[in-house]
Amino acid sequence: MTPSSPGRVLVIAGSDSGGGAGIQGDIKTITALGGYAATAITAITAQNSLGVSAIQRIEPEMVELQARAVLADIGADAIKTGMLGGRKIVEAVAALIDEAGVPAVIDPVMLAKSGAALLKPGAIKAFEALMVPRAALLTPNAPEAEALTGLKVEDLDGQRRAGEALLKRGARAVLMKGGHVAGATVTDLLITPDGETSFAGPRLETRHTHGTGCALASACATGLAQGMSLEAAVARAWAYVGEAIRQAPGFGGGAGPLDL
Ligand code: PLP
Repeated sequence: MTPSSPGRVLVIAGSDSGGGAGIQGDIKTITALGGYAATAITAITAQNSLGVSAIQRIEPEMVELQARAVLADIGADAIKTGMLGGRKIVEAVAALIDEAGVPAVIDPVMLAKSGAALLKPGAIKAFEALMVPRAALLTPNAPEAEALTGLKVEDLDGQRRAGEALLKRGARAVLMKGGHVAGATVTDLLITPDGETSFAGPRLETRHTHGTGCALASACATGLAQGMSLEAAVARAWAYVGEAIRQAPGFGGGAGPLDL
């Protein structure tokens, strides 16, 4: 981070026309937390709270050009990745993370809540090989952790086992999100080689949770870009997303956006 910089985050992710998830949710989150958001867009989705009706992927070369334009001039203190779409973009982004040499918060976005594939199933192997080892922080939900490890993630022990398996595969830290794990309490488990920290609270009964994963990962990246410790960045991100769910404006007939 340069002196007096607000913390520059380069977001490499897809656009959500509904404004709740993806690049739009990322920019709102980073801005709300005092950071500066730049973007390399990987895909455009036609989407609202009811689901994704179309996806147009951006050429991998264009994703690279966007990121390089940002890095060559504005710079970045952290990278956040979301929807990557396919294998070629995964390969390009892995190289960009190496070149940038800043911490990368990697959200292994695979499926939208509505079921749309945001990472082609054929790209999961490349994601495992190239993105997991480059993560300063990996932020899988339970289904994503299951897809990456082959382990069942149905309770806190399952979260812990999958998180440890992902550390063994090279992630420097893993935030195992608990929203998909049944129970009245939701626990997100931060697992690092030094131990674990849990963030737990009562399950918020709401359908307005669209984009929670994007916001959480962006908030973590903002904290790292601003020079916070990993634990402090995750704690602030967790509190921010909880409040954003509580304050959700109630838009849309499906899983609505947060108040970011
Ligand atoms: N659309 C885009 C472009 C995303 O990046 C994501 C999540 O990362 C989603 C949709 C999914 O959001 P949700 O799972 O809340 O529907």
